[in-house]
Amino acid sequence: MKFLRLILLSLSTSVLAYTSLSDDFLKLVPSGGDDFDIHNGKLLAPILIPRVSGTAGSLKVQEHFVNFFQKELPKWTIEWHNSTSKTPATGDRDVPFANLIFKREPPWVKQGQSNLLTLVAHYDSKYTPDGFVGATDSAVPCAILMHTARSLDKYLTQMHDEMDALGEGGTVEMDMGVQILLLDGEEAFVSWTDVDSLYGARALAQAWEDTLHPSLSTYRNPLSQITAFVLLDLLGAANPKIPSFFQTTHWAYKNMATIEDRMRKLGLLEATPNSPFLPESSKEPHQFGRGHVEDDHIPFMRRGVPILHLIPTPFPRVWHTMDDDGDHLDLPTVRDWAKIITAFAFEWLDMMEVAPQSQ
Ligand SMILES: [Zn+2]
Repeated sequence: MKFLRLILLSLSTSVLAYTSLSDDFLKLVPSGGDDFDIHNGKLLAPILIPRVSGTAGSLKVQEHFVNFFQKELPKWTIEWHNSTSKTPATGDRDVPFANLIFKREPPWVKQGQSNLLTLVAHYDSKYTPDGFVGATDSAVPCAILMHTARSLDKYLTQMHDEMDALGEGGTVEMDMGVQILLLDGEEAFVSWTDVDSLYGARALAQAWEDTLHPSLSTYRNPLSQITAFVLLDLLGAANPKIPSFFQTTHWAYKNMATIEDRMRKLGLLEATPNSPFLPESSKEPHQFGRGHVEDDHIPFMRRGVPILHLIPTPFPRVWHTMDDDGDHLDLPTVRDWAKIITAFAFEWLDMMEVAPQSQ
């Protein structure tokens, strides 16, 4: 018994395979194009409405997400995580918060066996000002993650089919999956405190800490399955500058920055920013540790989950104002992010294994 546990431990700490995408594969990564149109774009337009937790707008965007996955990505599982809380703005009423979890694992894995690239954004919008849309905060990040999911889908199918045929699977490298968390209740109802913010994330992190997988699972609970918690927030304005916040995930930051740089040099990106979106590749160890931004990652980070936080500093000029709407987005930047994040997920999930053959 002891021996087996030791084996499992060594499996779960081994290094994942990581092969860079070829130039040819980078060129095939789609931008999403008109699906990010603010008026009738299939992915983005339906999210550009007020969607305060517990309101009709919130239900509408939930339906948009669920319909999209049910119709177009039937191999992804859909899970709801519901909680309620009182808020300082809503008195005795219990406000409902609904996190959505869309997951694609290899078909052979059992509960607690897969390691999961975890891509995250919040879909709720701020309670005030009335009519606030939150295009960068975080309608665009949600739409980007829908695009990433659908771009991955056929390659994941191909990869799983090939691995199944070869009888592979059962190692950390092979048991890799991806999940997309669309979280509710990120915003404060009145002003940001530990109890008035992150309603959905706090409830989910707690629930996952309390959910133990069957004994002898590779991972003891859903938190330990997360290889990286990649949180997108406030994306969609021109000239974003994303710091590398955490030394523990700086290697992943650098991988994403390299993708950006390669795509830019290959002429695959549309925006012409005054500096790279991810300018801190060469940050040195002693430069880390000077603060971070409070966001949905906090309850997960406190429980030891590795975090890659993609949030610009400074925040977009429109942050938490009525101007954070579709008209103030920079769509070339939005489509560039869609490409960069999709390519990052391809690379993480080792898609060179199923790269289309170049002619
Ligand atoms: Zn916000």
